[in-house]
Amino acid sequence: MNSIFTEEKPEVLIQEDGTRIDGRKPDEMRPISIEVGVLRKANGSAYLEWGGNRVLAAVYGPREVHPRHLALPDRALIRCRYNMAPFSTEERKRPGPDRRSVELSKVIREALIPAIFVERFPNTAIDIFVEILRSDAGTRIAGITAASLALADAGIPLRGLVTGCTVGKIGKWLVLDVGHEEDMWGDADIPLAMIMETQEITLLQSDGTLTPEEFKEALNLAIKGCTYVYELQKEALRRPYVVVEKEVKGEV
Ligand code: ADP
Repeated sequence: MNSIFTEEKPEVLIQEDGTRIDGRKPDEMRPISIEVGVLRKANGSAYLEWGGNRVLAAVYGPREVHPRHLALPDRALIRCRYNMAPFSTEERKRPGPDRRSVELSKVIREALIPAIFVERFPNTAIDIFVEILRSDAGTRIAGITAASLALADAGIPLRGLVTGCTVGKIGKWLVLDVGHEEDMWGDADIPLAMIMETQEITLLQSDGTLTPEEFKEALNLAIKGCTYVYELQKEALRRPYVVVEKEVKGEV
C-alpha cells in the first residue's frame, strides 16, 4: 500500500509558481469535515477530519472534582489531556504520555481557558480529552478546533469558539495550513488559535525565523485560515438542529 507520507526529504517542497508538494496553492487549506455530538457518554464531543488528521474531542463536566483538594473555590478547574494513539503515526508511537503530549495538553488547555466562563462553575471540573487517531501535521490546532466544539456541545458558556490554523514558511513562500512534508522539511511552522468572536489570540508558537514583515503577513494569513475554519465550526454546530427542524416540518 502506498504511504501518504514522504519520509525522505523531497527535492522540491514548493515550485516556482507556488504549487505545493500536495498540489495546493500557498493560501489553500486541506479538506476539513466536522461532526458534533458523536459520543453518547460524554457531555460534549466532536470528530474532526483535517487533511489526514483524525481527531476526537470529548468534554466531561462541569462535574465534581476528584481528588477534592484540587477544587477551586472561585472557578472551574480545567483539565486537558492530548493523546496520540499508537496507530496514529507512521512508526508505532509508544502508548502513554511523553514530553510532547504533556506540552500539547498544556498549550491546548491554555488556548481554550480564555474562552470559558470558568467563574460560573466554582468547585467543579471540566475535563477535555483530545485523542489523535491519525496524525498528519497540525494536530494541536486541529485538537483545539475540535475541543472548542466539544465544549460548546456540552453546553458550557463560552465567549466564543476557539479556532486554530497554521502558517508555514518554505523558502520565500508563506503557506497556509502546513502539511506533513512541509512541517518536517519547511523553514518555519506557526500554529495560531484565536477566539473568533473577540479576535483574541490564545495560542501563538513559532519554530522558525521570520522577518517582522513576514510575521505580519503570516498572522494575516493564519487569521484568514481561522475565519474559514470558523464557518465550518458554526455549520457543524448548527447541523443537528437543522435535521431536527426538517423532521419537525416533515421534510425528512
Ligand atoms: P502538530 O501535530 O501540532 O503539528 P508537531 O509539530 O509536534 O505538532 O508534529 C508534527 C507532526 O509530526 C504530527 O502531526 C505527526 O504527524 C508527527 N509526529 C509527531 N510526533 C510523532 C511521533 N512521536 N511519532 C511519529 N510522528 C510524530
